[in-house]
Order: sequence, then C-alpha cells, then structure tokens
Amino acid sequence: MGVISAMRLNSALLITAVQLAAADKIKVLLVDGQNNHRWMETSPVIKKQLEDTGLFEVDVSTSPAKGADMAAFRPGFKSYRVVVSNYNGDPWSAEAKSDFEQFVRNGGGFVSVHAADNSFPEWPAYNEMIALGGWGNRTEKDGPYAKFRDGKLVLDHKPGKGGHHGRRHAYAVTVRDSKHPITRGLPETWMHHVDELYDSLRGPAKGIHLLATAFSAPDTGGTGEHEPMLFTTRFGKGRVFHTTLGHDVEAMKCAGHIVTLQRGTEWAATGKVTQKVPADFPGAEKASLR
Ligand code: ZN
Repeated sequence: MGVISAMRLNSALLITAVQLAAADKIKVLLVDGQNNHRWMETSPVIKKQLEDTGLFEVDVSTSPAKGADMAAFRPGFKSYRVVVSNYNGDPWSAEAKSDFEQFVRNGGGFVSVHAADNSFPEWPAYNEMIALGGWGNRTEKDGPYAKFRDGKLVLDHKPGKGGHHGRRHAYAVTVRDSKHPITRGLPETWMHHVDELYDSLRGPAKGIHLLATAFSAPDTGGTGEHEPMLFTTRFGKGRVFHTTLGHDVEAMKCAGHIVTLQRGTEWAATGKVTQKVPADFPGAEKASLR
C-alpha cells in the first residue's frame, strides 16, 4: 500500500471513529416553550449540564407560545431515547399526546423537571408517568398525597389541594434508597442550594419508587412532613425519573441537582448509570455550586 492510500485509509478510519462516538451518544429531546418559570433561561442550562457528561446529545423542541395554535406541535419523540420536560403550559394536541404515550409505553425514557409536574392535570397517562403532580386544581380527585413517615412511603387520601411550597431556602435532601442506580454511591444526606421545596403533591402514585425526600419545615412555611423530592415510575416499558428540584438557574447551580439530573436521565434512557459520583457532590453541611 502506498503512503497516500494509507493516509486515506487512516482518515477514513478517523472519520468513522468520530461518527461512532456521536452515534453512541444518548439522544435526548428537551421539550419547552411554555412555563410559569423562566424556561428560556433554564433550558440552555439543562442542555449544557446533560451534554457536559459526554453521554448525551440534546435537541430542543420548543412549542408555540401560550394561547397559540398547538395543532402543528408534534415533536418527533421516537427519534430519541429519552424526553426531558421543562414544559408547563397549554394542552398538546391529541396526536402529540398519543405520540408521547406510545413513546414511553414502548420503552422511551422520560424526565420531569420541577414545574413539568404542574402540567397537564387533565391528561391521565401523563399523571401516571409523573406519579405526583401539583397545582392545576389538583385535589383528592387526582389521587393521594405521598409522604415519608416512620421509615416508609405512605399514601394519604385525605382531601385537599395538590401542590404547595414554602419560602425558598437551602435544604437537606435525604436518600431513601441507596441501592437504586441513580442514588447508588451518593451521601445519605446532602445539602441542596436555595430552591423551592415542593410539598403536598398528589397523583395516581402508581408504582412510585421513592429515591429521596426533604423535610418541609413549618418555619419555612412547609408541612412538617418528609416530602418526596426524587422518585421514579414505570409506564409500560418506559422508565420515568421525576425531580422536583430546579426552580431557576440559581437552584440549578447545585452540584447535587446537576448530578441527580444527569444520572436520572441516563437511567431513564438505558436503565443503567455509568457516571461516577463527582468529588464536588455536596455533603450534609454545605451546598456545592457549579
Ligand atoms: Zn418553581
């Protein structure tokens, strides 16, 4: 083989290697476009935090603005391994909802971030996926509350509104299942940076698997209960990771939030977590910011 053809062969191999690396990445679709939160600020942060792992390639699908015609909004979910929602807004079309249900039912992953669990109170399958939701006139008609009491998850059917939070503050998050791939190797308790602490979420809670809770202290306007912060569900063959954390860009600086989002997204996509717990993961006393 001459020098020139050897060089051609080498560059062909190089190109193939680069393409394989890109092809190996987990394709993520981040959905946004409407939210009572500043999605235009937080979506680029979520995208970067996922792509920083080197594992994910993130596309963004942005819906029409609130009140606009939603008929043409039909994200191509099935080209992706996992959908991450930063969306809290108008109902999707029947077609888009059906596409999404099929996607998850057939094994697609789904990650609900913060106010994504406020969305779609009238969509039963979505509420099954997120297990618990808040606001949107959710009450006992939508399912029980879920609390961590006496060392276990308790579903409480008492009547009342779904969804509330007290004053924003830094708070401790406690891992309740340290054997799950998402939480394996994390400290039992870690300090989360200033954020809302969602409480009193309610929903079908079918197959809810609790990963972590936080104590909603009465002196910050909370319930006096240990509230679910991170949890998973299954919908058909699909895996769902639900994080209630991440009100804004500031809260999203927390290394604990970033790492659980990265690990939860990998798990939702593949059922495994290959990421190591980083050295800057927060401990019990002090939040760790990036
Ligand atoms: Zn919020």
